[in-house]
Amino acid sequence: MAVLLAVAVAPIVYTGQGNAAPVTFTSTAINQAGNNCGNVPSSANGAQLVLAACNGAASQNLTFVPVSGTADQYNIRTLTSNSCIDVSGASTADNATVIQWTCHANNNQRYRLQAVSIGGATNTFNIVAVHSGKCIVPAGSSTANNTGLVQLPCSTATVRVWRLPSYNPGTPGGGGGWNPPSNLVTPLDEVWRHVESTYPNLFGFRNYGWDQIIANGGYVNYCVRWDSSANVSVALRDQIHAALARQFKKWMDVMTENGQGWNNWPYTGVPVRVVGWAVRNRAQLQWSDTSVDIYVNDIRENAPQCSQPCGRFFNQSGSYPNCPGGVSHHYDMSLWLTDGFGGGAGGDWGQRMGREYFTNNLNTENIHIYLHEVGHTFGLDDFYDWTPTGVCCFIMKAGSATSITEFDRWMFRDWWRHLKSRYGR
Ligand SMILES: [Zn+2]
Repeated sequence: MAVLLAVAVAPIVYTGQGNAAPVTFTSTAINQAGNNCGNVPSSANGAQLVLAACNGAASQNLTFVPVSGTADQYNIRTLTSNSCIDVSGASTADNATVIQWTCHANNNQRYRLQAVSIGGATNTFNIVAVHSGKCIVPAGSSTANNTGLVQLPCSTATVRVWRLPSYNPGTPGGGGGWNPPSNLVTPLDEVWRHVESTYPNLFGFRNYGWDQIIANGGYVNYCVRWDSSANVSVALRDQIHAALARQFKKWMDVMTENGQGWNNWPYTGVPVRVVGWAVRNRAQLQWSDTSVDIYVNDIRENAPQCSQPCGRFFNQSGSYPNCPGGVSHHYDMSLWLTDGFGGGAGGDWGQRMGREYFTNNLNTENIHIYLHEVGHTFGLDDFYDWTPTGVCCFIMKAGSATSITEFDRWMFRDWWRHLKSRYGR
């Protein structure tokens, strides 16, 4: 069963040059509003970066070093002190200062280069801090010399865009492209044309599972909506998390080929975090540790939910100003388990199925209702009223298969193929 998706927010259109595994490069960063350069004014730990007239000095050259284990994140090293560009205090707030600091492994020293199309220019990017999703920009949108750099929401305004003249996209290709088996070409084409003719806001909608993962920089956060009168032991909590991660991975594995993201998908693994549990009664949860946030008796749709200020469904801008604990405590999807519920439902908000079904199948190789509903989270359609030519059985045709088939795999990839341009991939 498909359940409908929330209203989209206005898109920012990114176009891209990326099509490769990243490599290290050293470049100046030229602000596209005033053509001043990012500059490290001293070698002191904690020095705030500023704008300065471009002069090619070491203080204006930054080395972008790919973060191992990621497909699209960089540390940015300063040449003057070999420190790292850092959002001070790991703050997620607007106007947090951008400084140099001793290098470490945390996300407030990691950045993604989001390609932005600026007329006539090449190698132009938003520089996006992974921990906050915000961009390195001059304070107050000023173009003046000595303006301090801070983080603010990303946009395509020229003052929030940098040209990296020595940007190196890395070694091309890898990870495969659109080459489905010949017997699947016709049915895949039928499916996509059906999607185009029946989805009312196909490309305007921006909360598919794809969007959620990319907004996070490569992971997914879950809330468990425990719509049940049963108690939950620590062991059951952890088994549910493990099963969720194992099943979600089955879809994510579709997007890895030859050890790389398929067709420039940025990730070779997408960790599943369970950040919250929602229950009617705290006493149902038989643990006292603080490893997950707990939400008690916050009822919507007649079921417990995690706090709306922390939910992606309710905050599609990707910022969570009223979520206690901030962005790291947000959830993208809910696993909604309801006593006595038959079948399933899925959408951008998550997946719903019977509590008994899920907990009775924790060690089943394929929790097929869950797999089907995750397909909907990533945009895939149902097939109640038609069947593509020549394919009988696949997980998105309810009841015809209990695992992800080759046809499902290519339908899934087709979604990424059609959406990836919004991320400059
Ligand atoms: Zn369905």
